[in-house]
Amino acid sequence: KVRWAIVGASQIARSWVAKAIQSVPDAELVAVVSRSADRGRAFADDLGIPVSATSLKSLLAETAIDAVYVSTNNDRHRDDTLEAAAAGLHVLCEKPLGLTLYDAVEMARTCDRAGVVLATNHHMRGAATHRAIRDLVLTGQIGRPLAARVMYCEYLPKELQTWRTKDKTQGGVIYDLTVHNVDVLRFVLADEPVEVMSMKASSLIGENGVEDQVQSIVNFASGLIAYMHEGQVFAHHETALEIHGTEGSIYGRGILDEAPSGRVYVRRGTEMTEIPVEPANLYATTIARFNAAVLHGDRPAATGWDGVASLATALAVRRSAQEGVRVSVPRFE
Ligand code: NDP
Repeated sequence: KVRWAIVGASQIARSWVAKAIQSVPDAELVAVVSRSADRGRAFADDLGIPVSATSLKSLLAETAIDAVYVSTNNDRHRDDTLEAAAAGLHVLCEKPLGLTLYDAVEMARTCDRAGVVLATNHHMRGAATHRAIRDLVLTGQIGRPLAARVMYCEYLPKELQTWRTKDKTQGGVIYDLTVHNVDVLRFVLADEPVEVMSMKASSLIGENGVEDQVQSIVNFASGLIAYMHEGQVFAHHETALEIHGTEGSIYGRGILDEAPSGRVYVRRGTEMTEIPVEPANLYATTIARFNAAVLHGDRPAATGWDGVASLATALAVRRSAQEGVRVSVPRFE
């Protein structure tokens, strides 16, 4: 079994990831680490977690752990991951992997050198809909993909309009959703972004110049052109993922979410066919893949280097939007 600790008593850990760990047969959720003893204890009690601690160091002095899920604020991912890696722990880290490319590369390299698994919680890779779309693309069902569109547009709930919408150093929709959209495209297309052009805005809820929507055009290595739109201000927008190829088009409707949701269609000419998809919990799928990486050396759903790649493109988006220029995306292996 993989013995897990959650680092950071966060909303996403409470809503989804703790239960996902508890639902996977070869995983055991042993502990939560929170800077606040009270909040940590309440989190542990509510979710049936045996141990709560106020630091990883104090936890490890008394409790055996194999892996941590780093679910802290974006500006703590680097330090929390490096501390865990130094203790020989495997790490599933939330996105964005780091705030800078330098930090993210350091995290990936350090974990590689320490011989521990680093994965990024790009949970969309756990969606049955996204896996179905990737299969359709990679088995040639729509011929050669020529263009893609991905729209992760939602309304950020009031209770989450805290650091995400106010804090310029770690907030904004680019760290929040652009990294996901980039990873979605990389995953379903098995292709790499090479260049972006973007525009951003603080339309409604972003404060202090923090962006709450951004739109981009992305060139991929294959020559495919993609359009990406991420927004936290749309109460009525359906999320969508489309891929248009020489032999057909794929339409994914309502498929960017935390819950299993949405439908997938293939259109040829004017004929639209729904592709049957068996829903699965995105986070449980991610945890199961992570466990397989720890226990059997498999590849996690999204590696640390996938997190580096999605951040590299997201930061290119930010620079393009800030400076009004086309920006090349650096590649890291
Ligand atoms: P929260 O704002 O809920 O929590 C972030 C940190 O703040 C926690 O780790 C906790 O740290 C502290 N905290 C939590 N509640 C309170 C409180 N009431 N008062 C003071 N401090 C508090 O973060 P989110 O869950 O929204 O996001 C956490 C991470 O997960 C982010 O990196 C985000 O980008 C990512 N995320 C990923 C998603 C995905 O599906 N992949 C979805 C949503 C978020 P501590 O316990 O140590 O004090």
